[in-house]
Amino acid sequence: MKIRTNFCTIGVALIGFFFLVSGTAVSQDDFEYKVTPIKDGITMLHGGGGNIAVLESERGLLVVDNGYEQNSKVLEAALEQFSAETQYVLNTHWHGDHTGGNAELANDATIFAHTNVRVRMATGSEAADPMALPVVTYEDGVTLNFAEQTVKARHLPAGHTDGDTAVYFEQANVMHTGDHMFKDWFPYIDKDSGGTVDGYINNVQAIMDMIDVDTIVIPGHGPIANLEDMQRFKDMIVATRAEVAALKASGLDLAAAQAQGLDGKWESWGTFFIKEDRWIATLWDDV
Ligand SMILES: [Zn+2]
Repeated sequence: MKIRTNFCTIGVALIGFFFLVSGTAVSQDDFEYKVTPIKDGITMLHGGGGNIAVLESERGLLVVDNGYEQNSKVLEAALEQFSAETQYVLNTHWHGDHTGGNAELANDATIFAHTNVRVRMATGSEAADPMALPVVTYEDGVTLNFAEQTVKARHLPAGHTDGDTAVYFEQANVMHTGDHMFKDWFPYIDKDSGGTVDGYINNVQAIMDMIDVDTIVIPGHGPIANLEDMQRFKDMIVATRAEVAALKASGLDLAAAQAQGLDGKWESWGTFFIKEDRWIATLWDDV
């Protein structure tokens, strides 16, 4: 997801950031990351931007995604609560709510991402700080081998964007989907960044094929999920696409289709960033 609005600092004077000594949260202004231990040295940081996964390895921390730029000092402070230094950073895709901490973390860590993440960050309308750019890029994927955890990063083509990666922690059986999973919400498909509806559905299925019923799924947005949640998510996309196809086939234009809307059972899916009207518009050109 990409949101430019800085909802964390609107109307709030910067009065300095501080630690909550409990070690469970770090705060700046009114923002703090929630810290949820997952399994086998893997922790989720969440509450601002995309979900972040942290692996504590014998070679330091691997940090998968890193939130908004304006929260990067808070993130750095949160990471200092771990026993090791941040050595590796991986971006699931280029959006600013997943890569905003790159420049800050790049002082100590090496950033990995798909080739198109670097291209889009370097050439976008708001070209990134050169320090924020991924250093190690790959086409199909990369494997990071730690003593107790093998981390397989696999590229997913032309779905949410054209540079997405799903990150699988093999021994722990934990999957970070990036933005190929919005738990129980309509997803954002960034067609301006090479995303497609068909690709998105194929990629969701590809992730499902990599996991099992015991896998802990860290979605791009929303709480911890599992295979069943992913199946429900994919079924929703396929079913709403069929509804939009039927609306279009009945002769309605987009505005009339939006006015008519989807089946009422999907109402709760439109309560996050992508509202129902926008989801119908996303599907419209593809049916
Ligand atoms: Zn995104």
